[in-house]
Amino acid sequence: MSAVQGEAFAGLDAAALLAALPDPVALLRPDGTVTLNAAAHERIARVSPGGDWNALFDDASVQAVRGAAQQALAGQSAQVTARLLDTVAPALVTAAPAGGGALLHLHAARDPLEVALELMDSLRLGMAVQAPDGRILHANRAAEAILGLSQDQLRGRASVDPRWQAIHPDGSPFPGEQHPAMQALATGEPQHHVPMGIFHPHSESWRWLDVSAIPRLAPGRTQPKQVTAVFTDVTELRAAQSALGRSEQRFRSLVQATAQVVWTARPDGAFMPPQPDWEAFTGQTPEQYSPDGWVLALHPEDRAHAQAAWQRATREHTGYRTEYRVRRADGQYVAMEARGVPVRGEQGEILEWVGTNTDVTELHAARQSLLDANAALEARVQARTAELAEVTRFSTLLLTAAGEGIFGLDAAGVTTFANPAAARMLGYSVEHMIGQKQHALVHHHHEDGRPYLLAECPIHQTLVDGVARRRERDVMWHASGRAVPVGYVVTPTHTAGGEVSGAVVMVQDITEREQARAQLHEMIENLERSNQDLEQFAYVASHDLQEPLRTIGSYTELLARRYAGQLDDRAGQYLQFTQAAVERMRSLIQDLLTFARTGRQDAPPVPVALNDLMQATAANLQGSLQGGGTLSWDTPHRVLGQGSLLTQLLTNLVGNGLKFHAPGEAPRVHVSSAQAGAFVHLQVRDHGIGIAPDHHARVFEIFQRLHHRDTFAGNGMGLAICRKIAEHHGGRIWVESVPGQGSTFHVLLPGGPTP
Ligand code: ADP
Repeated sequence: MSAVQGEAFAGLDAAALLAALPDPVALLRPDGTVTLNAAAHERIARVSPGGDWNALFDDASVQAVRGAAQQALAGQSAQVTARLLDTVAPALVTAAPAGGGALLHLHAARDPLEVALELMDSLRLGMAVQAPDGRILHANRAAEAILGLSQDQLRGRASVDPRWQAIHPDGSPFPGEQHPAMQALATGEPQHHVPMGIFHPHSESWRWLDVSAIPRLAPGRTQPKQVTAVFTDVTELRAAQSALGRSEQRFRSLVQATAQVVWTARPDGAFMPPQPDWEAFTGQTPEQYSPDGWVLALHPEDRAHAQAAWQRATREHTGYRTEYRVRRADGQYVAMEARGVPVRGEQGEILEWVGTNTDVTELHAARQSLLDANAALEARVQARTAELAEVTRFSTLLLTAAGEGIFGLDAAGVTTFANPAAARMLGYSVEHMIGQKQHALVHHHHEDGRPYLLAECPIHQTLVDGVARRRERDVMWHASGRAVPVGYVVTPTHTAGGEVSGAVVMVQDITEREQARAQLHEMIENLERSNQDLEQFAYVASHDLQEPLRTIGSYTELLARRYAGQLDDRAGQYLQFTQAAVERMRSLIQDLLTFARTGRQDAPPVPVALNDLMQATAANLQGSLQGGGTLSWDTPHRVLGQGSLLTQLLTNLVGNGLKFHAPGEAPRVHVSSAQAGAFVHLQVRDHGIGIAPDHHARVFEIFQRLHHRDTFAGNGMGLAICRKIAEHHGGRIWVESVPGQGSTFHVLLPGGPTP
């Protein structure tokens, strides 16, 4: 502290001075006590709560500061540069002797760059410090806002980066190499106020910048070591300037284009020379226009009202304003608006009239085009209205024509519209339904007579939650009090804001559907019953037939035995025929009985191994097999069913395979099984005579045979029984066969659990 300053502040309280200083200051007394000012307290508190003065500095600086303090205590000022812990910028500590103690003053220098960036920010100037290769090292906040990029996006991006989109004012591209920063780097010369258009990614618009770039030369070097680009957004300025330019131009052209005639007249209305504008415009000479010949320059139709208006104005001393057509010097009539005002003297007396005539052709044209536009608009509105009416008519037609009943409901469930089909279905008039609560009118009770609570009504629920619903079966109540079976779909409607505004209900009268279903049901029941009756009949008939047949058989045999040798040859032959017929009849009845019985006993299905069934089948067919046939099988599966029936099925199929072998060839049958989903697929394959495709279905009918009994024995019941057994098990049977090559019978049976 210099002596001069010391004297100037001599009268002041040292503590007050200390407190007022904005920089941190410490007063060291020889006894070692330290007084800190508020700025110092605050600064220390930021670094270490409850810390002391030394907490501000790094270890090396603490030593240096102490040294300076010692020096000051010894009576000598000293200055050291110290590193602070809370900022990167170094601080200057001045230690000065003061009142036997030492005053330590900390002057924290700020990074000049930081200061500059901040300053630029406050001026809304973008600033970017760029490396020699054009990469951005620092950018301030204003730069972020102007360029629409974040710090992170800006930092490291070079001027030549292809992502910049820059243009010259004429719209041509502004390549990165031409950027003022790059120019400044290349030339070492500052670049000033370069206009540049930049695409702003946030607003997705072009912004206009004014860019300057100042190279920073390293001392003693010509090559710049950095460049600072400073730029400002001049988009608005440019827009304002060009708008101004435009309106000014418009104004000028308007003024030039408007034929303005300025005139004066005497207080009594006489139109006296000189009237240079009037003369120039109309070509009238002073003799022609004065004192009231000017009306002759007007269109004959306009003269009377123009003159009358002028006379009234001059008589009543009011403003003059009228419109008329004036014949220009070239003979063309021009629509003009004439205005005139009296100029008064100090006593209020009229000194003269001053007026203008303005060409209003353009105004009229503008008015006309406005009128035309208006008319066009009106026509369009009319067309649109007609279109709308058409659409409305069409949808009304649709609603009317629809076979389904259609209701519109508002959010409260009140019917807003109903089509004729709906009205017909429920016996009301459309007018009666509209305005009524739909639920209370037609949906009040369930079919069984319980009241239909609103809370359980699907239509009401849709009004509440806006979810579409479908009901296959419900009832609505006809005006006559009967229930109409219905199916319906409820679709919510929404306001523009997305709230449920109501619903549309499409209702279908399902009376006929219900009736058809009931009829079908009845038919099935009848069929089942008659099937049962038939089976019963077949069973009883075949059972009862056996008795008389047995009698015939016994007596025929008795006859044959009793009269053996006494009857002539022919009688003996007749007896033989009778016995054969009885035998055949018995076998037919047997088969019929088996067929009728099949599936009558309802034993629960059990898992059975196909191998066991095949064993039993082979045993049943032992006779045929001993005659030279071969039967093989590969059936590792189990099926669900009744063993006895399934053995019969296999015996019939294998038996047929052995029976219908080609003449002169030994019969061969192979049975195999495979899993087919939940089913077991059985195949019984032979190499016999085969079946023509026409007969593939027929062979499964009862008493159907393809050969004469003399060729192959049989009643034609075997496959019919097979089919009945397969179907009884919930399975299926069919045949594939090529005549002359053999047949394969396929059977699907429900699979049993694997062993
Ligand atoms: P049948 O008791 O006469 O054998 P089926 O109902 O078992 O009666 O068979 C009906 C007819 O289907 C047989 O008469 C025969 O013509 C034909 N058929 C059945 N199985 C075979 C087969 N494996 N090969 C050729 N034809 C067959």
